[in-house]
Amino acid sequence: MLTLALSKGRIFEETLPLLKAAGIEVTEDPETSRKLILPTSRPDVRVVLVRATDVPTYVQYGGADLGVAGKDVLLEHGGEGLYQPLDLQIAKCRMSVAVRADFDYAAAVKQGSRIRVATKYVSVARDHFADKGVHVDLIKLYGSMELAPLTGLADAIVDLVSTGSTLKANHLVEVEKIMDISSRLVVNQAALKLKRDAIRPLIDAFSTAIR
Ligand code: ATP
Ligand code: MG
Repeated sequence: MLTLALSKGRIFEETLPLLKAAGIEVTEDPETSRKLILPTSRPDVRVVLVRATDVPTYVQYGGADLGVAGKDVLLEHGGEGLYQPLDLQIAKCRMSVAVRADFDYAAAVKQGSRIRVATKYVSVARDHFADKGVHVDLIKLYGSMELAPLTGLADAIVDLVSTGSTLKANHLVEVEKIMDISSRLVVNQAALKLKRDAIRPLIDAFSTAIR
């Protein structure tokens, strides 16, 4: 049995065509089904639905043999125990710094002021500002970061941006791109050895489908 960990929403949706290219069809819709384990058209392959941030953990400890996770999530997790054979080029967005439209970020950086930054991505944010020599106090959040600058909790946020419409709706402006983000295939290192005959063709089919 091969177990693939996916999160509901865009990762699930955008992984479906890749699975199809590998001859695997998921026969149930996670948006309507209450099941957390979904069968597929291949009796030896199943999908488990987990929170996006839990995908690397499931794969690392063998709760799933493989999974699909965003680069954002993988960087925060650290990637221990994970083999990352493919950038799937799905769920694309960027990680950026955003501030309130009336906050002069460039001036604050230039003056060497301490900037309060709220984010879910503490590890990436810490590295980014350290590289730039910008002094920051990081505040870890789990939910909508856009609220932080609006309430005075923080001067800036580090968050994912795709169209920018959420930022705009909250009177925030993107002032710095940190990196481009897409999702990767992650494989449990032990499973890759023990289930090589099942996993290798899957990696090859995904890889062909991306191109
Ligand atoms: P939850 O919504 O359960 O709190 P989440 O926000 O991490 O979890 P998703 O919104 O499905 O879950 O995001 C999953 C992954 O998709 C993220 O880790 C990121 O890599 C990518 N992603 C997030 N937001 C966007 C976006 N606006 N456009 C494209 N990809 C995105
Ligand atoms: Mg989300």
